[in-house]
Amino acid sequence: MDCPKCRSEMDGVEVHGVTIKRCHQCKGLWFDRAKHEYLRKVKDSRSIDDGDPAVGRTYNAKDQILCPDCSAPMIRMVVPDQHHIWYESCSKCFSVFFDAGEFKDYVRKDLVDIIQDLFTPER
Ligand SMILES: [Zn+2]
Ligand SMILES: [Zn+2]
Repeated sequence: MDCPKCRSEMDGVEVHGVTIKRCHQCKGLWFDRAKHEYLRKVKDSRSIDDGDPAVGRTYNAKDQILCPDCSAPMIRMVVPDQHHIWYESCSKCFSVFFDAGEFKDYVRKDLVDIIQDLFTPER
């Protein structure tokens, strides 16, 4: 499967018995069928997000993408309790894509996130 953002190959990465996909180049993370919600509650799952957040931010701007699994358009979403995290979700198969650095942020909500939300415009 190719990365929906940079078109590089994605590798399977296993964490706590769950396999997700990580892009070779931009290190974006792909979670099929909303596995990110389960992994958010799993300890140490943030280690799968080993990309450079600066690279992730450049790809964050690219948000008109098609699902690499079922080719449906992906919808731009925000994390309900962390408005500064923008991700993409498939309208058909509920798979989601996080840019490098976003998943790490997603699993750990702290004071910095609360402050960042105050300054993030509505999507
Ligand atoms: Zn990529
Ligand atoms: Zn899909």
